[in-house]
Amino acid sequence: MAVRKIVRMGDPVLRQAARPLAPDEIGSAPFRLLLADMIDTLHDYSGIGLAAPQVAESVRLAIIDIPGGASRYGDIPPMPLTVFVNPVVEVVAPETRGYWEGCLSVPGLRGFVERPQHIKVRYTNEQGGTGELELTGFLATVFQHEFDHLDGKLYIDRMTDSTLLSFEEEYLRYLAPREEPQAGQLTTEL
Ligand code: ZN
Repeated sequence: MAVRKIVRMGDPVLRQAARPLAPDEIGSAPFRLLLADMIDTLHDYSGIGLAAPQVAESVRLAIIDIPGGASRYGDIPPMPLTVFVNPVVEVVAPETRGYWEGCLSVPGLRGFVERPQHIKVRYTNEQGGTGELELTGFLATVFQHEFDHLDGKLYIDRMTDSTLLSFEEEYLRYLAPREEPQAGQLTTEL
């Protein structure tokens, strides 16, 4: 297991549509190695989500791990480390809400992105079984951000107002919501 380098915006791998993993790849030795490295990398970078293209592997694999009880995450509901292979997102309700998003592949910046807040995700797990999750609110945003990486998209592509793209320092100084950190304020990177 090893911490891998997270590639940054401008690397072509972040702009490719990743390929689906075949059933016989899931659980294979290379798959387990990649997954272990992604987990190490996510924790080393203190992120809450990581997609394989962010470590330059163009396959449809992502992990999400939101620790509970950590004050820096505010009211964000915790989610134990979960592995998503070939995930498919269905929008259940089109109403959107905006959050300030950050991305490990776009370091130093924050951008305000509006996304649907009620989605359903169907996926294969690391054992090859199938899973389904229904997500609302901030978690719906987290999952859409992460799975966009599998389609070669970054959060900046989803922004409708480019004046709401900011360096972190200026974001905290001028733009951060005045209230205490909460679900409306994404304080970590994906
Ligand atoms: Zn990201």
